[in-house]
Amino acid sequence: MTKRVFNFYPGPATLPLPVLERAREEFLDFAGTGMSVIEISHRSKEWEKVMTDATNLVRELMGVPQEYKVLWLSGGASTQFFMVPLNLQQQGKVMEYVNTGGWSTKAIKEAKHFGDVEVIASSEEENFSYIPKNVEFSEDIAFAHITSNNTLYGTEWGYMPKVPKDVPLVSDMSSSIMDRPINVKEFGVIYAGAQKNLGPAGVTLVIVREDLLDRVPERAPTMQKWKTHAENDSLYNTPPVFPIYICKLALDYMKEIGGVKELEKRNVEKAEVIYDVIDSSDGFYKGHAREDSRSLMNITFTMASPELEDKCVKGGTVRGLIGLKGHRSVGGMRASIYNAMPLEGVKKLAEYLKEFQAENQ
Ligand SMILES: *Cc1c(COP(=O)(O)O)cnc(C)c1O
Repeated sequence: MTKRVFNFYPGPATLPLPVLERAREEFLDFAGTGMSVIEISHRSKEWEKVMTDATNLVRELMGVPQEYKVLWLSGGASTQFFMVPLNLQQQGKVMEYVNTGGWSTKAIKEAKHFGDVEVIASSEEENFSYIPKNVEFSEDIAFAHITSNNTLYGTEWGYMPKVPKDVPLVSDMSSSIMDRPINVKEFGVIYAGAQKNLGPAGVTLVIVREDLLDRVPERAPTMQKWKTHAENDSLYNTPPVFPIYICKLALDYMKEIGGVKELEKRNVEKAEVIYDVIDSSDGFYKGHAREDSRSLMNITFTMASPELEDKCVKGGTVRGLIGLKGHRSVGGMRASIYNAMPLEGVKKLAEYLKEFQAENQ
């Protein structure tokens, strides 16, 4: 077997080995076509099956109700930063956002092109180390927006904000989609770039409640309307076939191991292993996120000096623990332990961190 390391990169990120193996096995001859999946027409019945299967797997794994559309779009989650306000803005109504980090900040910036934005809560003054408590959105706004997991800072919403009944809640779930069961009905729109928790970069999953598709102004560019993609089963233009195909294999795998409930169980267990090391290190490792806001997906921590952090990252690399350098907005280290990270990788990391502390304090 070729050498595999444990990959803690924040995205693109690790994928389950069986998924990669299956992609390799069927690469030259997909579904008996004598062609690879990236060569066949996106109008062929073989491709249609891939897409239908992927969509149905999302529906099944997340419990997506019938009145929601599942879309596979390109342009990354960053494109949804403007597609959300473009598709949901209503004349004279405010768009409300909670600012919990760099990605929220970028989403807010885009929304401002479309109308009045109100940031109703923010943790910016404490370098985004927590999720604001008791968030309540206002009546009569166009929509409410949150970022469910803050990839750079390692915080994650642990509760549902209060949203008036008629206001759609929009969530950027790029780095936490399917990390735990959610009730899709509580959201108007969910979007996620695939490259963290689902598959490779190049495709973005958008789940949108059907009644919201008609809000978009007629004059909006065709490709930027969710409605266009909903009416054409994401085949209005050539979809990013390879990323969707890999997502489909990853979804198959997630189903096979027991679905989102099982993933949550594993994710909680994995996160505990690392947070335990931080909490029992007598301050050698300092967690960035407040305990009540800790992410299951991205664990951020710092040490006494940048030199020590650098040494720790480098020592990890030598052991095949890759991608532990923190984002510049927090510094220090970050272990991204998405759905596809095995418990074994997390245990190896914990072992290493304990050893590193013993040798360096
Ligand atoms: C990575 C990330 C994005 C940006 O995704 P792209 O696909 O690169 O545009 C947006 N939001 C969150 C929460 C992310 O983690």
